[in-house]
Amino acid sequence: MSFSELGLLPELLRAVADKGYDSPSPIQLQAIPAVLGGRDLLAAAQTGTGKTAGFVLPILQRLAADQSQVQRAPRALVLTPTRELAAQVAQSARDYGKYLQLRTYQVFGGVSINPQITALRAGCDVLVATPGRLLDLAQQRALDLSKVQVLVLDEADRMLDMGFINDIRRVIKLLPQQRQNLLFSATYSDEIRGLAERLLRDPLSIQVAPRNAPIELVEQRAYRVQKEHKRHLLVHLAQEEQWRQILIFTRTKHGANRLTQQLCDAGIDAAAIHGNKSQAARVKALDMFKRGQVRALVATEVAARGLDIKELPQVVNYELPNVPEDYVHRIGRTGRAGAAGEAISLVSSDEGGLLRDIERVLRRPIPVLPTPQFKILESVQRPTAPAQRDSNSRPHGNRPQGDRSPGDRAPGNRAHGGGRHHGGPRDHARHGGQARRPAQDRRGGGTTR
Ligand code: AMP
Repeated sequence: MSFSELGLLPELLRAVADKGYDSPSPIQLQAIPAVLGGRDLLAAAQTGTGKTAGFVLPILQRLAADQSQVQRAPRALVLTPTRELAAQVAQSARDYGKYLQLRTYQVFGGVSINPQITALRAGCDVLVATPGRLLDLAQQRALDLSKVQVLVLDEADRMLDMGFINDIRRVIKLLPQQRQNLLFSATYSDEIRGLAERLLRDPLSIQVAPRNAPIELVEQRAYRVQKEHKRHLLVHLAQEEQWRQILIFTRTKHGANRLTQQLCDAGIDAAAIHGNKSQAARVKALDMFKRGQVRALVATEVAARGLDIKELPQVVNYELPNVPEDYVHRIGRTGRAGAAGEAISLVSSDEGGLLRDIERVLRRPIPVLPTPQFKILESVQRPTAPAQRDSNSRPHGNRPQGDRSPGDRAPGNRAHGGGRHHGGPRDHARHGGQARRPAQDRRGGGTTR
């Protein structure tokens, strides 16, 4: 089916053609007619499915039909969890609506409120907002929400995870009772179901992929490892298994920066994306990653949300997420569209509870494999010898198993895998705690914990 068969306006069809889309994605096929028809929507859809156009196109069409308003108080309100997603959705609305006389504006925190107040005075048709800043603006009477006809909660699960539920309730109280409601969520927790029940009236339920579908496509495994040894195991796995494009999740911005540096020091080109980086820096890092100019992208949860990264071979949970549903979302980054993907979790002793929580949500265990031998790389003294890649020092995979005996402590200057990097001769390697134990002593024996 084509976009024109969905009954979209010629102006929208032109804009879609400008974007180079051939045909509607599955979620668009279902969402566009329903939203055009005025129905509420409950959509299970992740970033990458084309969900934004799925709600933006029909909303623009509905708004374009009635341009009678002079003051232009927003008639569509899209709530998003992050400023990044807000900016992305607003840009989509501008792109799709470029041949219509409609105005889109976005507001989010972390920047000065005054320009937003001024801009809102000029009016807009579609307002994309993060909940906190929206409430601030409403409190300052910079915003009239009484004309809102359509409310969209985008990435609703994320908004709840981030503690926005009370803000959302307060925003809803400011809206007219009579309106259309669209709820998009990557995952369905009981909390989301509860919100949907309260908010939506006779919604059309759309599921572009069955619940937890990515799980079936993704090969998952976990390793038990001491917190301070995680980076060494990561480097080992990346080199041994020749990972080419690795998305790594850390819990904190600081942790993301530190790991990025450590990976670079170990000869794995890496870039970080997190909330402290400017939008331009994030886009650049993502672009380099997509082009293969950096091998690893180290991301915090929030920064990675909403980013369009598709079909990754490897996703690494360097730290397990506090919210189990985030695990599902993270590993949904890999194995898309039937491509084989792997999700690898590095689990320290304090994360056992988090792993159990995740397994409860997945309703299946994650195989915990015996931790392989790996080397502990001394921290780098910079600047010293020119950088040399690990992969250049030893051909991949030629180390015999016998090389991993408990007594085998490689001397520092032995050309033996991960021991060589910027630090030159100082850069000696020794085996880690788990590494010194014989395989049969290790816990789990393969697939259990
Ligand atoms: P979203 O899930 O809304 O974040 O969209 C993911 C990506 O898919 C974006 O880069 C869109 O530009 C793109 N996209 C959306 N709809 C289509 C379509 N029908 N055909 C091709 N690409 C699309």
